[in-house]
Amino acid sequence: MKANLAIHGGEPAVTSPLPPMYPGGMRIGAEEEAAVLDALRGKRLFRYYGPERGASRVEELEAAFAAHVGATHALAVTSGTAALMGALVGLGIGPGDEVIVPAYTWIATASAVFAMGAAPVIADVDESLTLDPESVRRAITPYTRAVIAVHMRGAPCAMDALIALGAEHGLAIIEDTAQACGATYHGRYLGTIGDVGAFSFQFNKIITSGEGGMLTTDDAAIYRRALMYHDVAGGLRNAVPNDEVIPGVNHRMSELHGVVALAQLGRLEGILADMRRRKQTLKDALGEVLQEKGLGYRIIHDPQGDAAIALIFFARSSAQARELAQAISAEGVRATNLYSPDKVDYHVYCHWTPIMGQRAWSANGGPWKQHPREIVYTPDMCPRSLDLLGRTVHLDVSPDLTDEQVVQVADAVTKVVEALA
Ligand SMILES: *Cc1c(COP(=O)(O)O)cnc(C)c1O
Repeated sequence: MKANLAIHGGEPAVTSPLPPMYPGGMRIGAEEEAAVLDALRGKRLFRYYGPERGASRVEELEAAFAAHVGATHALAVTSGTAALMGALVGLGIGPGDEVIVPAYTWIATASAVFAMGAAPVIADVDESLTLDPESVRRAITPYTRAVIAVHMRGAPCAMDALIALGAEHGLAIIEDTAQACGATYHGRYLGTIGDVGAFSFQFNKIITSGEGGMLTTDDAAIYRRALMYHDVAGGLRNAVPNDEVIPGVNHRMSELHGVVALAQLGRLEGILADMRRRKQTLKDALGEVLQEKGLGYRIIHDPQGDAAIALIFFARSSAQARELAQAISAEGVRATNLYSPDKVDYHVYCHWTPIMGQRAWSANGGPWKQHPREIVYTPDMCPRSLDLLGRTVHLDVSPDLTDEQVVQVADAVTKVVEALA
């Protein structure tokens, strides 16, 4: 049996290279091209003015995005990180405040909190690889102001429990939806359930303009502060009374990015449908063999709402997870293990060296040294997250996999799991 495995010199199960995992990026086509040319020809590259009259396409994107997800307000910005910063400003979070972030998220979530002068506090994830509400509860202190619920790898957090916890303790809920644009939870779009949502259109995300982001909220006051923050003249431009204007920085989206993001928004539901269908086929094909070997999928709090960008299952040990990932990769399917102690990866808190080392850019030590209580980070402070992440095998689910490739991916995993697990 073992001789069959590609890692032992056998024939790989996958016979043609699989599509790269840039769902929106790989679908850039005639619409994006035409939209960019149109913007260039109109010489209207800045959202607030230009030589020609006509509506701003960034403004059009905001209206379309808000309508699509069902938010009252949407604000386009330069990145997902900028959207998170706008969300924190919108909620009035700054020095002396604490914001709870999950142990598993892109470091940008914690960096945005640091950038506001507030202290990130790290809580465990559960078998969904998203924030564990009970761990959040234990991390609350008198200084906690908000929780950033990160919908990792396309899947919703336990939003009911997090919203209830927020209400119980007077905490705002920010949804970091950078990896889950278009995903839902009990029928509602992620990013519209908490107080404010943050999306990214960076090239790795579900839809993309290369760089870009979006903030969504139903709260007029949050929107107004975020609007002022994202444009140094945002108060003036939006007729905010002079004595209410707060300082801002320039995180405005350019029209060139806006037209691309707008074209991509038109592709979103098609991309999601294609990923969901492929993921379901894979799950149906693999369910039995995984179960036989005692391996389980990660929990998804609302499977129907899953963006379906990834298929993740747990091995019994981290050594087994690494062995399986290597063998599956050798079959021609990129399989990864989401945490190893010796491979620096900014998705796992213990590898966030600038945050873990509390390296502020100011001589006074920044948010950590100026904070009213001592914040302590240790590499083993979230052992549950490290155990779970260490045991994962992660597969991409590209919307562009052919039916034949989906079968080959299932064959590759089956072959390896049967031989090694
Ligand atoms: C990508 C990402 C961000 C940051 O988005 P950028 O557009 O790269 O700034 C934040 N959080 C998560 C979970 C992400 O994956």
